Amino acid sequence: MNRDNMNIDWANLPFGYFKTDCNIRFYHRDGKWSAGELVTDETITMHMAAPCLHYGQEAFEGMKAFQTRDGRIVIFRPSENWKRLQKTSERIFLPPMPEEMFVEAVKKVVAANIKYVPPYGTGASLYIRPFLIGVGAKVGLGPAPEYIFAIFVTPVGPYYKGGLTPVKAMVITEFDRAAPDGVGDCKVGGNYAAGLPGADHAKQHGYPVPLFLDPKEKKYVDEFGTSNFIAIKGDTYYTPSSKSILPSITNDSLRIIAADLGMKIERRPISIDEVSSFDEVGAVGTAAVITPICGINYQGKEMLFGSEEKAGPVITKLYQNLTGIQYGELEDKFNWLVEVR
Ligand SMILES: *Cc1c(COP(=O)(O)O)cnc(C)c1O
Repeated sequence: MNRDNMNIDWANLPFGYFKTDCNIRFYHRDGKWSAGELVTDETITMHMAAPCLHYGQEAFEGMKAFQTRDGRIVIFRPSENWKRLQKTSERIFLPPMPEEMFVEAVKKVVAANIKYVPPYGTGASLYIRPFLIGVGAKVGLGPAPEYIFAIFVTPVGPYYKGGLTPVKAMVITEFDRAAPDGVGDCKVGGNYAAGLPGADHAKQHGYPVPLFLDPKEKKYVDEFGTSNFIAIKGDTYYTPSSKSILPSITNDSLRIIAADLGMKIERRPISIDEVSSFDEVGAVGTAAVITPICGINYQGKEMLFGSEEKAGPVITKLYQNLTGIQYGELEDKFNWLVEVR
C-alpha cells in the first residue's frame, strides 16, 4: 500500500467523516439482493417518500479495521456486527442478508480503501459504518418496497493521545433514550435522536457524557449515551443486564478478556444506588474502547471513582489487552481478527 504523498496527520484525525475513494452498495428489490458495487458517489438519491426518512426504518453498525504491528490489515469481529444487524433487522422488518455477503462486503470496501487504513503506531484506525435503509415511495405505515445496504469507511484518530483520560457523567432522569419494550437493544437511527436532549442536558451541566437509567423504573443503570456501562470492584467485572441496552461487542470482548484474566463476571440489573460502591467505572464501545469515568452526578451529588488524571489499574489492563489484540501486539487467542490482506 502506498501512503506516500497522502499528507494525512493520522494521529490528530477527529472522530468524523473523511473522504475516501469509494463505498459499497447493494440494492434489495423483489425480495433479492443485488451484487455489491463499489461507487465513488458520496450521496444517495432516494424518493422523498422513503420510509427511512419518515418512519425511521433504518439500522446501522460500527466497527474498525487496523494495521497490525506486522503490517497486516485486520477487521475486528465483523461476524458479531452481522449478527447484531440481523437482530435489529428482524425487529424493524428490514430484509436479512447472509453472513458471507456482509463480511465480504466489509473486506471489499476496506481493501478498496486500504491506503486510508492508518499506519500502525499512530493509534488511529479505519472506522467502518454499514447501514441499511428502507427506500422507495411508501406513505402508509408498512415496510419499504426497496432497501439499500451500504458501507462507507473513514479514518479516525486515536481517542486518547496521552493515555486514557477520565471524564465525568451525569445521570439523566428527565429524558429516556429507549422504551422498556422498545428498540433500545437495536442499533436503529431513532434511538439516537431520542438521546440528543439527554446528552445536551448533561453537557449544559458540565458533564460530557449522559448516563441513562432503565426507562421503566428509573432505578437501574442502563447505559451511557453511546456506550455501555462497566464497573470493577475487587476482582469482579460488572455490567448491567436490561432489555433496553444496546449489546456492545466491545463489552462482550472485554468480558471474555476479563474472564480469561481470572476475573469474575456479574451481568445483572445494577441499581443506581449500588454504583457508589464500585472502584472503577468505564464507558465502553468501538469508538474509544474504554472511557474511564471518574465521577457520576446523580440528583446533584457526585459519586467519585479514582483519580481524575488517569484510569484505574483494572480498566487500564483491560484496555491494553483489547487494543493489544487489535494491533497484533498480543496473540489473537480468541480468533477475533479477520484479515483483509
Ligand atoms: C454502538 C453502541 C454501543 C457500543 O457498541 P460496540 O459494539 O461496542 O461498538 C453502545 N451503546 C450504544 C447505544 C450504541 O449505539
